[in-house]
Amino acid sequence: MNIILLGPPGAGKGTQAQRLVESRGMVQLSTGDMLRETRKADTPLGRQVAQVMDAGELVSDEIVSAMIDEKLASLAPETGVIFDGYPRTEAQARSLDTILAGRGRKLGHVIELDVDEDALVERITGRYTCATCGKGYHDRFEQPGVAGVCDKCGGSEFKRRPDDNEETVRTRMAEYRAKTAPILPFYEARGIVTRVDGMAPMDDVTTAVERVLG
Ligand code: ADP
Ligand code: ADP
Ligand code: ZN
Repeated sequence: MNIILLGPPGAGKGTQAQRLVESRGMVQLSTGDMLRETRKADTPLGRQVAQVMDAGELVSDEIVSAMIDEKLASLAPETGVIFDGYPRTEAQARSLDTILAGRGRKLGHVIELDVDEDALVERITGRYTCATCGKGYHDRFEQPGVAGVCDKCGGSEFKRRPDDNEETVRTRMAEYRAKTAPILPFYEARGIVTRVDGMAPMDDVTTAVERVLG
């Protein structure tokens, strides 16, 4: 089973992907996470990626599609994959078709997390993750059971993304509207898109996503 989680920044893609990893042993392929690794390197590519991400713009299609292909190559064919934050443009959607065909994989579902744009700024500016295991949290909507201690790994260091600020979020939302939302019809024509209410509480969103996967 290979699925795409589609939605604007802050829609809950990463949150739901982490839950599917736990419940189904699927693998989450997040181009955002891959690019955050890339930008750490003090190389021309690392610096270029950092600049584009901090501006809230999109990294080139060639770079992200090559990353996805490389990751898929390292996975056993029966491992289910959740594409989180990819594809983000029509060119990426076409590349993904070629990449999947090359690996003998099929796309099962595209799940669109439908959210109010007004809620996204608060979701994103309150977002943080465990520095040790990457579990996602939110200042208001998902706090650790014990303050300052990660529920999942017991770690006590947390981090925030440099691009999770209001100004960049506006650009990222505009990029989503202009370049990513237009790929929905591409998948709708195949009858594989399901819209899920992303404004519902996290557990309800999970229930709805699990129902789609069956
Ligand atoms: P995305 O990966 O789509 O950018 P995240 O999964 O990182 O979004 O979610 C953004 C922030 O909003 C996180 O801090 C997360 O805890 C929180 N969040 C996710 N889903 C919900 C929800 N259904 N209701 C309220 N907050 C949510
Ligand atoms: P969010 O979880 O808020 O939707 P991501 O972590 O997926 O954000 O992406 C963060 C940034 O990384 C994006 O604003 C963009 O600069 C870059 N990025 C991630 N995925 C892609 C992609 N598929 N194509 C182009 N740029 C990407
Ligand atoms: Zn942790």
